[in-house]
Amino acid sequence: MSLIVMKFGGSSVGDAERMKRVAQRIVRRKQAGHQCVVVVSAMGDTTDELIDLSKQICDGPPPAREMDMLLTTGEQVSVSLLSMAINSLGEKAISYTGWQSGIYTEAVHARARITDIQPLRVLSSIEQGQIVIVAGFQGMSETGEITTLGRGGSDTTAVALAAAINADLCEIYTDVDGIYTTDPRIVKVAKKLQEISYDEMLELAHLGAAVLHPRAVEYAKNYNVSLVVRSSFTDNEGTNVKEEAVMEQGIVVRGIAYDKNVARISILGVPEKPGQLAKLFSELAKNHLDVDIIVQSGVTGGSADFSFTTSLTDRERALEIIEQTRGVIGYREVTFEENLVKVSIVGAGMVSTPGVAATMFQVISDLGVSISLVSTSEIKVSCVIDQTHLADVIRALHSAYGLDSTEQAFVGGPSERR
Ligand code: ASP
Ligand code: MG
Repeated sequence: MSLIVMKFGGSSVGDAERMKRVAQRIVRRKQAGHQCVVVVSAMGDTTDELIDLSKQICDGPPPAREMDMLLTTGEQVSVSLLSMAINSLGEKAISYTGWQSGIYTEAVHARARITDIQPLRVLSSIEQGQIVIVAGFQGMSETGEITTLGRGGSDTTAVALAAAINADLCEIYTDVDGIYTTDPRIVKVAKKLQEISYDEMLELAHLGAAVLHPRAVEYAKNYNVSLVVRSSFTDNEGTNVKEEAVMEQGIVVRGIAYDKNVARISILGVPEKPGQLAKLFSELAKNHLDVDIIVQSGVTGGSADFSFTTSLTDRERALEIIEQTRGVIGYREVTFEENLVKVSIVGAGMVSTPGVAATMFQVISDLGVSISLVSTSEIKVSCVIDQTHLADVIRALHSAYGLDSTEQAFVGGPSERR
C-alpha cells in the first residue's frame, strides 16, 4: 500500500460531469489499495471570474486581504463537491480547507510562501481510512489570516503536502498528458517526455512552460518528492520529474519553452559614473519588480545605453519607477519594445557540450530573424525575438536539436495554461 497525493487542476474539475469522473478515478486508486490525499483547484475559470467580479466592485485595486478571502472560496467549492461525489460512490471522503490542513504561510497576501505544514487532521483522517480532499492554493498566516500562494499555486500545495506527509508519490493531473519537448499546439511532432530532471523542469517552468508551477518544482527538488505529470482525461502514462533523468543518445536539448509575457525597456544616454546601475536596479527591486536580462549596449561620449527585460504585465510600473529616478540618474531617454517573445532551449547536457548556443543563433539567423537579447545559464539559452517569427523559430529549433518524432502529439481539453 502506498500513500499518494493526487492533484487536479481547474479544467479537470470544470463541471459536475468532470468532477464525477475525477471522483471515479480517485475511488479506483483507493480500491487498488492506496491511501489517497487529493488536492484540487477551483472549478474551470472560477478564479478569473472572481477576479473579474472584484473589478466590478472596486475602482482601484481591491484590498489584498479581501481578495484572498474571495479567491479561496473557489477551491472551497471544489473540495466540498468532490468529497460529495466520492461519498456518493460509496467511499468515505472528507474535505479540508488549507488552514484545516495545517498549511501555514508567510503573512503576505496574493503570493504567500508556505512556511510550515502541520497535517495532523489530514494524517488522522487517512488513518481512519478516509480519502482526504484538501483545498489547493491557500493557507493561513500565523496571525490567522487567510492567504493564497499565487496563481497556479495548487501545484505547490500538492507537492508541499506530499513532502509533509511523506507520500510515496505526487501525481499532478492536468489537461495535457505530460511534459512535451515543446508546445504541441505549435509543433505537431512534439514528443512527450518519459522523464525530466528537477533542474530542467524548473528552468522550463520559469521560462514559460505553464504545465507546472515553478515553486512546486522547487519544492519537489528540495524535498526529493517523486512527481508525475499526467492527464486527467486519459490513462496514458505521464512524465516523471526526478533528480536525474536519462537523455536519449545524441540529444542535448530536453525541451523548448517560450514566454510572450516579456517587454524590453531601454534607457539611453545614461551619464557614465559609478553606481548608476546600482541606483536604478535597486529602485526596481525595492518595488518587487523582476528584471531578467540586462545588457549594456554601448558607450559613446561618456554616456551608456542599457536594456533589460521585464514581464509585459510589469512594464507600466517599471516605466513609472524609472521616471522617478530621472533626476538622480540623468538619462536622456527611455524606450520600450513589445510584441516580443523569449524562446529558450533547456537541457542538463548542455554544460558539457560545446556549440549548443551557436546552433541556436545559427538556426534563428538562417530564418532571417534578428535576436534582440540573449541570456544563458549552465542548462539553458534564451533569445528574445519578435513574436511574429515564434512558430517558425520553434519548429526549426525543434528539428535542429533532433527532437522531432513521427508520432502525433496529444493535446488535451480546454487549457489550464495561462
Ligand atoms: N485557482 C487558482 C488559480 O487559478 C490556483 C490554481 O489553480 O492552482 O490560479
Ligand atoms: Mg495549474
